[in-house]
Amino acid sequence: MKDKVRVRFAPSPTGGLHIGGVRTILFNYLFAKHHNGEFILRIEDTDQTRFVQGAEDYIYSCLKWCGITVDEGTREGGNYGPYRQSERKSLYREYAEKLVAAGHAYYAFDTSEELECKRQVIENFRYDHSSRKQLRNSLTIPHEAVESLIREGAPHVIRIKMPEDEQVAFHDMIRGDIAFHSSEVDDKVLLKADGMPTYHLAVVVDDYLMKISHVFRGEEWLPSAPVHILLWKYFGWADEMPKWAHLPLILKPDGNGKLSKRDGERFGFPVFPINWVDANTGNKTEGFVEAGFVPEGFINMLAMLGWNDGTDQEIFNMEELIAKFSLDRIHKAGAKFDYEKAKWYNAEWIKASSAGHLLPQVKPFLNHKGINNIDDAYLLDVIEMVKERCVLLPDFYEQASFFFTAPVHWDSNAVKPKWNTGKDAFFREFADQIKDKNDLSSAALETIFKDLATEKGMKVGELMLPFRIMLVGGKFGPQVFDIAEKIGITETIHRIHNALEAFK
Ligand code: GLU
Repeated sequence: MKDKVRVRFAPSPTGGLHIGGVRTILFNYLFAKHHNGEFILRIEDTDQTRFVQGAEDYIYSCLKWCGITVDEGTREGGNYGPYRQSERKSLYREYAEKLVAAGHAYYAFDTSEELECKRQVIENFRYDHSSRKQLRNSLTIPHEAVESLIREGAPHVIRIKMPEDEQVAFHDMIRGDIAFHSSEVDDKVLLKADGMPTYHLAVVVDDYLMKISHVFRGEEWLPSAPVHILLWKYFGWADEMPKWAHLPLILKPDGNGKLSKRDGERFGFPVFPINWVDANTGNKTEGFVEAGFVPEGFINMLAMLGWNDGTDQEIFNMEELIAKFSLDRIHKAGAKFDYEKAKWYNAEWIKASSAGHLLPQVKPFLNHKGINNIDDAYLLDVIEMVKERCVLLPDFYEQASFFFTAPVHWDSNAVKPKWNTGKDAFFREFADQIKDKNDLSSAALETIFKDLATEKGMKVGELMLPFRIMLVGGKFGPQVFDIAEKIGITETIHRIHNALEAFK
């Protein structure tokens, strides 16, 4: 093992960030921090045709929200930069040429039209050990002709020469020993005609140059692994090869297969951390932030999608995750995404968070509903009173709007069938009794309320629900005298009178 743990997340800026990608980030980060190592963010933007404006900024915004810090990256810098592959373009050709010289790669001059023709006539055409002998490349064209083509600047790519009959075996830290037969893999392009490396070349060269010790990436990259393993070997770096971990997929809630953006639309839940609008297509994908997740809930949920600490514990903060993270507890099988469970984590974290911590996160959701300029001290109390009842941040509006605005609709069905003049008189008198008293505590209000009921020979239980509906509008909310104390005597009296009119 290399002395220092250095891991990387290497996204291609081709769109937003799926939660599967965030989980890959998280596992990289937890592993790095557990081992006092470094977490590197490398932008793999060699495929300029798939570049999407804003994708890199978006990734950084997601990391910030998640509370994950990058040690080296395009913004942080570091000793192994640049960290954006397009800025490293000039260094890759030399490596590709080395492979050509050693006989592990070759120049291919076939134009895209020529290859397209092949595809038309040959079903499942692949550029590989069997077809390359009939194609225009440095394996079939005489050496001098190749040299003059290159001298004349004839467009060409460099392809890996996959061995014909070889087992490519390697150890995966999650899946154990894995082997591919070399004939299963085509002769991948390593260097494109425009001089840009492809992912396969760049990922290996950069993992080497950046001294990456462990690669955690999604299972979808497993088929590329044999190409990478061979490249590490062909470059003569096999001893420095990172250890591999291909993470199981996050699966659809129903059936099998990778959770997709479309599943989010289908079921109405987010699959990206933050709302994302694709600059090229204008398509919008919903985010967990806007759905009302707190980062702690989101991270906790993601960590448990494919990992546990071997006990029944389900709630972990980032420090605990770092302390307890271990590779041997990553599951081999894919984890089904369960939105109800995700919300459960969020509710647990809302409950466990202090009102002060929640305040800046709750405010935008209240503002969105037109509730502005609320005094922070008042809001803190309100958050404390209702947080137990909130699953997602927008619930703070649902659960607490009556603290800011008086109800205009009342659940009168819950009151009217049992309403009578005696109750009407009770509330008028109650309002009268409290009217000259300022700053009555919840307990004092309760005593006045109960004493008056006893005096009138009425059941307290039958008066509490109407009182709640007067103050709140419906059958919900925290303790009713706490609400009255919080909104104040004047407002309580005002609401009693308004409701009495409506109950008539
Ligand atoms: N650029 C690849 C991606 O978009 C990186 C895969 C890897 O980690 O090797 O995910």
